Amino acid sequence: MGKKCEICGKGDLKAAKLTFSHKQIVKRQSPNLQEIRVLDENGHAVRKCVCTSCLRAGKVVYFIYM
Ligand SMILES: [Zn+2]
Repeated sequence: MGKKCEICGKGDLKAAKLTFSHKQIVKRQSPNLQEIRVLDENGHAVRKCVCTSCLRAGKVVYFIYM
């Protein structure tokens, strides 16, 4: 819920819905976050929370065991 993408900083979207009886309902939409192992700039594998739109755009390098 409180997680954010570590590349672009994308987090939860919140919107308030007001019902007929004036009760406020907070709606939440969260991005598709994946915790994966990526290579940082020093060539080390680190665990990062990355959204799938950053993965598709190729902003991170996957770490794969050889
Ligand atoms: Zn992202």
